[in-house]
Amino acid sequence: MRKLASVQVIRDLLPIENADRIELAHIEGFQCVVPKGYHVGDKVIYIETDSICPKNETFAFLKGHSHIKLQKIRGVYSQGIALEYHGDAPVGTDMTKELGIVKYEPPEQPMDTIEAFPWYIPKTDEVRAQNIPELLTKYKGVPCYATEKLDGSSCTIYRNKGHIGVCTRKREVDNTSLMFRTAEKQGLLDFISNLDKDIAIQGEFVGPKQQGNHLHLPEHHIYVFSVYDITKQGYFDQDTMGLFLNFHNVDTVPLVNEFALTDNIDELVKMAIGNSTFGNFPREGIVIRPIEPIEGLQGFLGNRFSFKVINPEYQMKKGE
Ligand code: ATP
Ligand code: MN
Repeated sequence: MRKLASVQVIRDLLPIENADRIELAHIEGFQCVVPKGYHVGDKVIYIETDSICPKNETFAFLKGHSHIKLQKIRGVYSQGIALEYHGDAPVGTDMTKELGIVKYEPPEQPMDTIEAFPWYIPKTDEVRAQNIPELLTKYKGVPCYATEKLDGSSCTIYRNKGHIGVCTRKREVDNTSLMFRTAEKQGLLDFISNLDKDIAIQGEFVGPKQQGNHLHLPEHHIYVFSVYDITKQGYFDQDTMGLFLNFHNVDTVPLVNEFALTDNIDELVKMAIGNSTFGNFPREGIVIRPIEPIEGLQGFLGNRFSFKVINPEYQMKKGE
């Protein structure tokens, strides 16, 4: 579970040009506009974008705008909101539940669904670079790939013990759905049934009417970003995956950059800014992963880390 609200410390406070009553606070790897009166070192409750706050006294100042979105205030980006905090909970304490905050979930396209997402395959999800400062520092210098983050719907195509399924982020869809037919048309179902092992391939389903079709694609398509070995319970590393998918002519999310990991958030955000590989419009962001497996890193994701950096210019345009 992502900590949408937590106790944090104001690391830095910067003036905002032409603004007398507000300042820019740096909290974790984020920046957020606050009313004047705070000091560096003050504890606050920091609430991230994508939060839905309850309509109660604590949040009355939001005037009903309970979905916290990225904003541009006086020319600066403000990510989330900060509330005064005078308690003694340590930094990092999760306040999401206490405050009654839940995550904003964009409405899923209606699709004919048959059953739940298979429990033995990890769901696609990416943490934000701003939430993992320690990890960035720990793996600083590690060679990484950045791929373009496409703003469509998550799609998982899997084969397990003879059964082939196609799933959205939440459930398996039936064989008349657009997503299923797209996977079929692209040859992904044949590809997966002809292999000699049970795997899942995960990609982004994009095209007309999908999240506003920001890539302006004339047809639906799936671009793969992960391959999961169901038997071994681990993701392929990026290089092995690249070779494997390339060999089988499977389209992957576009490569943006190859670089040595930095723990400087500003640099990462700069890298995320730019146009899409698909045309003359801003990309949603990038997803960063190590090129090779990392020795000693053993988690649900196998021996890799993975995180996203959102392009603020895209987010603004989309009004999130
Ligand atoms: P929202 O629900 O607001 O659209 P999201 O679905 O994009 O957010 P995030 O956590 O922001 O969820 O991002 C993770 C998702 O990004 C993954 O589930 C995957 O579907 C999608 N994605 C798009 N492009 C890529 C990529 N290049 N690499 C990995 N994931 C990607
Ligand atoms: Mn998305």
